Amino acid sequence: MQNSTSYIDLEFDQQHVWHPYTSTIIPLPCYPVESAQGVYLKLEDGRELIDGMSSWWSAIHGYNHPALNQAAKSQLDKMSHVMFGGITHQPAVELCRKLVALTPAPLQHVFLADSGSVAVEVALKMALQYWHAKGQRRPKFLTVRHGYHGDTFAAMSVTDPDNSMHSLYKGFLPEHIFAESAECGFYDEWCEDDITDFRNNLIAYRNELAAVIIEPVVQGAGGMRIYHPTYLTRIRQLCDEYDVLLIADEIATGFGRTGKMFACEHANISPDIMCVGKALTGGYMTLSATLTTKHVADTVCSGEAACFMHGPTFMGNPLACAVANASLELLMQGDWQQQVHNIERQLAETLPEIGKLNKVKAVRWLGAIGVVELHETVNMAEIQKSFVDKGVWIRPFGKLIYIMPPFIIKPQELSCLTLAILQILQ
Ligand code: PMP
Repeated sequence: MQNSTSYIDLEFDQQHVWHPYTSTIIPLPCYPVESAQGVYLKLEDGRELIDGMSSWWSAIHGYNHPALNQAAKSQLDKMSHVMFGGITHQPAVELCRKLVALTPAPLQHVFLADSGSVAVEVALKMALQYWHAKGQRRPKFLTVRHGYHGDTFAAMSVTDPDNSMHSLYKGFLPEHIFAESAECGFYDEWCEDDITDFRNNLIAYRNELAAVIIEPVVQGAGGMRIYHPTYLTRIRQLCDEYDVLLIADEIATGFGRTGKMFACEHANISPDIMCVGKALTGGYMTLSATLTTKHVADTVCSGEAACFMHGPTFMGNPLACAVANASLELLMQGDWQQQVHNIERQLAETLPEIGKLNKVKAVRWLGAIGVVELHETVNMAEIQKSFVDKGVWIRPFGKLIYIMPPFIIKPQELSCLTLAILQILQ
């Protein structure tokens, strides 16, 4: 790690380079990665680590994939970027066509942006503008505890205010409504009481609510909670009954991770607005999208502004769109469903063993996601080193050790990940 012969200047990195959620005063160790291939990250000192993170949900096809590389190279020779205002191009049109085809049928209009957080900002702005266009003042959003929607301001405002990532900003953010999250796990028997607090809040605030925003079935950074799909079915029903828009944040769950192309499919529902990102480009480029129904899109544009007021500089970046097209192509023809199914089956066999350890409070899994919740918070630097010493890349946070490997991971490689967790927690 802190290799004295490293050609990457790790000292400069520690002194000047900010990494996600880190301190400049007590910097955490960083491992210099030289290259990545398939499910392996190659460290500068030659060690190879099996990747259990897919670079935070995104590298679903693995690294250095020939089809994605080729898509980027071909597009680079044509044009890497061009403004999207008054100009269009084949990579973006093709991508939007694919997204409209893949997502639930009512979603018809695509707004391209450059990160998940911005896709959420766009979704929230659309919902506000929708009601404004209808002549109604609806300034609030309803969401649930343990949710996470990104690090920008509006996204933070709908993230659980008690989430340690954002609690500091509590007093600076617009206040929204937080209902109790689902208690019923994905495989539990559904208990109708689970939706009571959500229903009460929705009814109480219905005239002020622009939308409900929720991560379908899996709550990610707010606790890796995998909840019962009926909770989501009920939310859709309540939104219909009380005329509130539903935003599904599929940024982490989208593109097969949970065993369905989109997690909403577990509940057979379709949202009014959907956000996607992360795996959209197979983890290659920064790209996201917000999709809406024709009704929402047309209403947004029928108001006094007569258009939707958002236009990032890198909107529709052709390079990112070209890679996304190649990634979606792989998903559409590939056997991701079987791969994710196999991962899920193997997790179902191995995680219960880990669940018996004293340090472990609970284990859960769905699709290509495996979660081990501990009783105590881990020492990040220490446990990270133990994982690296065992040849795997797993990045725990708080009380959670979780894996979400690339779909192409082989059974022996997945065993290395779960065995490393078992041995370290023993
Ligand atoms: N929503 C969800 C559900 C996420 O998991 C994330 C990323 N962790 C975001 C939004 C924000 O995406 P990004 O980090 O690309 O801004």
